[in-house]
Amino acid sequence: MRVSTAPARQSDSRMFSVVVQGYGAGNQRQAELQIKVAFSRLQALMRSIALMGGRILEVIPAEADDLAAVPAAPLAPAAASAPSTPAPAPVTPPASHATVPVNLYKPKDPFIGTVLGNYSLLSDGAIGRVNHITFDLSEGNLHYVEGQSIGIIPDGEDANGKPNKLRLYSIASTRHGDNLEDKTVSLCVRQLQYEKDGETINGVCSTFLCDIEPGAKVKITGQVGKEMLLPADEEANVIMLATGTGIAPMRAYMRRMFEPGERAKNPGYAFRGKAWLFMGVPKAANLLYEDDFQRYLSEYPENFRYTKAISREEQNSKGGRMYIQDRVLEHADEIFALIEDPKTHVYMCGLKGMEPGIDDAMGAAASAKGIDWSVLRPQLKKADRWHVETY
Ligand SMILES: Cc1cc2nc3c(=O)[nH]c(=O)nc-3n(C[C@H](O)[C@H](O)[C@H](O)COP(=O)(O)OP(=O)(O)OC[C@H]3O[C@@H](n4cnc5c(N)ncnc54)[C@H](O)[C@@H]3O)c2cc1C
Repeated sequence: MRVSTAPARQSDSRMFSVVVQGYGAGNQRQAELQIKVAFSRLQALMRSIALMGGRILEVIPAEADDLAAVPAAPLAPAAASAPSTPAPAPVTPPASHATVPVNLYKPKDPFIGTVLGNYSLLSDGAIGRVNHITFDLSEGNLHYVEGQSIGIIPDGEDANGKPNKLRLYSIASTRHGDNLEDKTVSLCVRQLQYEKDGETINGVCSTFLCDIEPGAKVKITGQVGKEMLLPADEEANVIMLATGTGIAPMRAYMRRMFEPGERAKNPGYAFRGKAWLFMGVPKAANLLYEDDFQRYLSEYPENFRYTKAISREEQNSKGGRMYIQDRVLEHADEIFALIEDPKTHVYMCGLKGMEPGIDDAMGAAASAKGIDWSVLRPQLKKADRWHVETY
């Protein structure tokens, strides 16, 4: 490998091209890729390449005309209608963003995973069924990073006699898997159940998964998704807004940030920022991964904050049910103070229905500070700091 030996400068804004082989998705893995990266992210990229089994062939300073392509100036100021809305600073996407692998396994040729475990995440008195399910990946090439999803093709046929189609599920484990052996993937699945014409209807795939036994073989596709990738910056602030199984990607982030075995496996990622989880559930018995989060709170009180909204057991200031958006409003000042920091990313995941409530709460909180949320939100999105995956 050839690496430029030019001396490092203070406040280095140089760009580098990293030539790599065996990195990326599908056929890309065979080809030589050239990835442009800022000096500040060079090390993180090299670590990511090593983790993904890639080989770095060359690291060279990027040409001057390449630099023109790199956004250096702040984003355009907010529209005239909202003169006080600050423009958020742009943030380079996670170093590995462009080359995070996707779609290694397609529906026509899925990976066949073996179920290693399937257990309930709920306590006595909870509503519904939510399970943590782990699959063995050791026979294949399905690797992933935190924030991605996989597809599951349930056995059987649909109402038209056609093979069932895939459903997506957010990955709840880190790239290293729950046992840290880099060979498993875990999901957090809620069984869909609803009433129709006096009959209880069970969702096809979620029931298939909640009922599945260890040893069963399951068709898996993907991995997919780049919306919810975690920034490589160890000092980033991460605000997480989750309802129900929306906790899945957040659980992976927090394991990466705080789990001792994970930290030992990732010497290049010693999280030092602030992680703030807002978690919405109907009952305390429906809280997911609670023991782990309590442990992180006691071990990392400076870095982890945890705010719950338990709708059927707590009341908001108006005497109604306490939803996650009520908690967002309660903490609006602190949330916006964090958002002013360009290192802050916000992640939202859960049922689609949570979006309008959060949006209203952010809007109200923003306008109390003289900020137009409808202007700021797209700017945060453009700066890769506002991440939403709802379903
Ligand atoms: C990116 C992404 C990530 C996801 N991550 C997760 C995750 O981590 N965990 C998780 O549990 N799920 C997750 N989902 C949802 C998951 O993909 C499935 O949609 C879910 O499990 C339901 O699938 P099913 O096969 O059980 O239901 P299906 O048998 O497909 O039934 C769903 C259909 O039932 C109907 N229906 C649903 N509710 C009602 C109702 N109340 N009244 C009448 N009809 C109704 C609708 O037509 C709906 O399309 C995710 C989805 C996406 C897109």
